[in-house]
Amino acid sequence: MIVDRLQRPLGSLRVSVTDRCNLRCRYCMPEQDYVWLPKQSILTFEEIARLVRIFAGLGVEKVRLTGGEPLLRHDLPTLTRMLARTSGVRDLALTTNGLLLAKQASALKGAGLSRVTVSLDTLRPERMRDLARSDRHADVLAGIAAARTAGFPVKLNTVVIRSVNEDELIDLIDFARSQQAEIRFIEYMDVGGATGWSAAQVFSQQEILARLTAHYGSIAAVPTEDAAAPAERFRLSDGTTFGIVASTTAPFCRSCDRSRLTADGTWFLCLYAARGVDLREPLRSGASDAALAELITATWRGRTDRGAEARLALRDRSPLYPVEGLRADPHREMHTRGG
Ligand code: SAM
Repeated sequence: MIVDRLQRPLGSLRVSVTDRCNLRCRYCMPEQDYVWLPKQSILTFEEIARLVRIFAGLGVEKVRLTGGEPLLRHDLPTLTRMLARTSGVRDLALTTNGLLLAKQASALKGAGLSRVTVSLDTLRPERMRDLARSDRHADVLAGIAAARTAGFPVKLNTVVIRSVNEDELIDLIDFARSQQAEIRFIEYMDVGGATGWSAAQVFSQQEILARLTAHYGSIAAVPTEDAAAPAERFRLSDGTTFGIVASTTAPFCRSCDRSRLTADGTWFLCLYAARGVDLREPLRSGASDAALAELITATWRGRTDRGAEARLALRDRSPLYPVEGLRADPHREMHTRGG
């Protein structure tokens, strides 16, 4: 097992397969125009599969496909099949906004995808129009239904923002229960891309629990089986479980085993890291698997990142980057890094 300077293992890898997205969520892509990664820089399926094989050889067991919107990448089931075959990968998941999921769920299941997380911030179509600038709410619900029909374990992700959707927590829990899906409430994070972020808009884990307790009565913490899991899990008295990802007010850097590969092969050790490691250049200039494995190992061994904790320690917290800073380097964007 390879561990970093804080004894955190190289455990899970999030693979962004595209920086493009078919939504414009205000907390992630609020701008009108974006600088995209050049087409020729985007890794081919073979290149992604090779890197994942090398990462798996170094101990990565969990791989999550993300983006941008991963289902915009042409023929994702083919990549899924390649990755599902990778020795050592025991969990291959997908995070999607669900718009295109109804069409692809069964092919993804056939290709060996293990599970699906769908982002669902609201149950109200008109609210989605405002929040994500899309009138395709029905497609998201159809995607969730199709994922269940295909036999996937489904999770839902909700970014909770004060005065935007914090009044839907109970409706969302009830909806998730009706879908036999576990919901995870995510605190609004000051990541790259979130240029409209302010501390006042963060509806914290504490507030989420207080709101749910007032409605459902006492809530029990569920002991964690996976120390590196970002969500703390809780149980209502009727047995319904849900999670909270409190990256903003109670970061989990101490146990973070996650790293991120962008669609152009830049490897980030932390969602907040200023710089990543270019794996595409050595990959395309003939580096052997052993040389790539050596580069990855040496980089991970030097890892000291605790990005979310460093943000928490700031006295005046404002957006991570101004718009010009994001335009200067699109790798700083959440939709490039993969959420
Ligand atoms: N398009 C896919 C989706 O919608 O799930 C995958 C990419 S998206 C960047 C991954 C996750 O990041 C989503 O659940 C999204 O809600 C979350 N996210 C994006 N910006 C965020 C922010 N500022 N704070 C918290 N979560 C954020």
